[in-house]
Formats: sequence, structure tokens, C-alpha cells
Amino acid sequence: MLTQDLERPKTPPGLYIHVPFCVSRCSYCAFSSSTRLDLRDLWLEGMAREVELRARTWDGFDTVYLGGGTPSILGVERLVRLVRGLEPLGIVPGASWTLEVNPDDCSRELLWGARVLGFDRVSIGGQSLDDRALRFMGRRHDASAVEQALHRAREAGFEDISLDLIYALPGQSPGHWRRQIEAALRLGPTHLSCYELTVEPGTPLATAVDQGRVVLPDDDQRRDLFLVGAEQLEAAGWDHYEVSSFARTAALRARHNMKYWAHVPYLGLGPAAHSFDGFFRWWNDGSIRQWADRLARDEAPIEVEETLDAEALRLERLTLGFRQVGGVPVADLRGPPVHLRAALDDGLLVRRGERVFPTRLGFLVADGLALRFA
Ligand code: SF4
Repeated sequence: MLTQDLERPKTPPGLYIHVPFCVSRCSYCAFSSSTRLDLRDLWLEGMAREVELRARTWDGFDTVYLGGGTPSILGVERLVRLVRGLEPLGIVPGASWTLEVNPDDCSRELLWGARVLGFDRVSIGGQSLDDRALRFMGRRHDASAVEQALHRAREAGFEDISLDLIYALPGQSPGHWRRQIEAALRLGPTHLSCYELTVEPGTPLATAVDQGRVVLPDDDQRRDLFLVGAEQLEAAGWDHYEVSSFARTAALRARHNMKYWAHVPYLGLGPAAHSFDGFFRWWNDGSIRQWADRLARDEAPIEVEETLDAEALRLERLTLGFRQVGGVPVADLRGPPVHLRAALDDGLLVRRGERVFPTRLGFLVADGLALRFA
């Protein structure tokens, strides 16, 4: 089947805005960001141009997500300029607006300003409630700043507050991870994203691991930590709806991220931002200056563009579907039927009608599951 024969998804698209600035670099991070805060105004000018360019062909967004980098270091004034400039994109009333924040930047002014601008959700990059762990990760805040950020977000009227946590730290025991989750729950978030610490090439963490200065948990230990956290949150009544994502109730799932996992189109603006329109995927130039220069020439600042044919889309549906509770259609599975039988018998998948859904054990091996049916 040719790409153009496929029906375009009709669900409203999501809008992602990449804010590529950080005050300092964390030891494990491979995200596209720069410590050149003096480029923030150049970035804002580029954003205005990219909005104008994309508003010619995209509109009707029902989720907006400001991620990074560190969106909170824009400050209120730049945030106002950015949000006002998004008007041509036709963001629908009732859209979900998420702002990623670093605990250190969570001033009352920023959080109240964000509320007034229409943000209804904050995602706090807390990562840990243990000061030693935060120092190891090169975070610029301590655990008390995370507590204060949640407190201030609630004071400012945010009812939907997500907190990021990182586990599988060197020497971390299941008991330590359990206590971290307990401490996080006491702060009253409505959503938790629990990410396993992974070694990204080129990071200070990768160098430390290569040189033997840091030893991370092995496969069995990581598996135990994942299960301990998931079981603890489930026992507390939380909804484990994606490998790393937990919501206090299903209504509090991250609407924007759900679009990525369900293969719904999204537009990414800003350096290195990724976009997907149902058939094509592209990502922007990662250099802030080159991205801005190309937009100044009224040129789309695309670095790479891919066309996804029906087979590539199927494989992506498998990869994404096995990572979240939405599962995948049985019709997308290839290979001998015995593979499905084995995955069902091993408790990795459950079948309901014409879809299969990953169990918690399935989440643990989500990528391997997709390969079994590729
Ligand atoms: S983890 Fe976040 S705050 Fe740290 S360097 Fe990466 S993008 Fe910046």
C-alpha cells in the first residue's frame, strides 16, 4: 500500500515547542539544549517565524506542550510573548497546556503568570527527593526545591501537577526507590513519570561508566526496581498507563504524550523539534543559529525528513503500542501464531477481541515484544 492510499488520522494534532536552553548540563542528559541563554531572544524571533510558516498548513491543536531544555528559564515576559505569538496556529478552546519547569525556576511570579496565560498543567523536573542523588545527576536544585515547587504550583491553582523521577541510580536498593516514591506521593502530584537512568553516548555519565567510576544496576536489579515502583503505585491506586507514566486517575493521563504513543499527528517547533503528520516525520535543525537563520530566509528549518510507508507505520504502531495500555490491533501482528500464543501464555500480553494489550511484565520487555511480531 502506498502512503497516499492511507487515511490521514482525524484526531486533533498536538503542538510541541522546544525551548533549547539550560542553565547547566545534567550529567546524564543528551537532550538538545544550550547554556547560551543570551540566544533566548533570537529563539523567540525564530519561533514567531516558524509559527507563521506552519500556520499556513496546520491548525486546530488541542494540546500544547512546552518542553526542553528548560522552558521555565524563559521567565514570564518571554513566556507572554511566546504564547501570544501562537495565536495563528488555532489552538482550540479547552486545549491542554503543559509547561515543563525546573524546581529552581518555580517562582510565584512564573507559576501565576503561567496560569493566567492558560497553562493548566505543570511538569516538574524534580528527578529525585534525595540530595545525594541530585548531586550525582548534576541537577542544580535540591530536594527542598522540589517540595517547594509542588507547593507553589498548587498555590497558583494548578490542579494537574506531574513530577519526573529517575531510578536505577548506582547502588539504589528497592527500599530506597520505594521510599522515594512514598516521599513523592506525600507531595500530592497527580502524575508521575518514572524514568530509568540510561547511559546516553557522549554524556559525562557515559564517560564515568566507561572509566569504571560509576557502576549502574544490572538487568535484574533494574527489573526489580521497575516492578517495585509499579507495584507500589498500583497498590496506591495509580493508573500505570505507559511504561514510565502513572496517573492518579485515568482522567489525569498526559493528553499530549498520549498523542505520540497513539500515532496522532503532532507539530514540533523550535531547534531539533520532531514532527509527524500521519505519513511524514521530520526534525528541525538542532543548531539554534542555523534554525533561526533558515527561518529568516523563509525556509523550513528541517534537518531530516522521512516518509513512512504502510509497513513502517505498522512497525511504529507495534513499538509504541506495546509501551502503553492502548495496545495494538491483532491485525498488525506478523509472524507465526505461536509467537502470540507464547506471549499470552507468558503473561506478557492479554487479548480482548481484536486487540492485544501489554501487561506490566509486557511493559518490561516492550521493545523485544515489538521485534517478535515485526
Ligand atoms: S536533564 Fe533537563 S535540565 Fe538537565 S541538561 Fe537535560 S534538558 Fe537541561
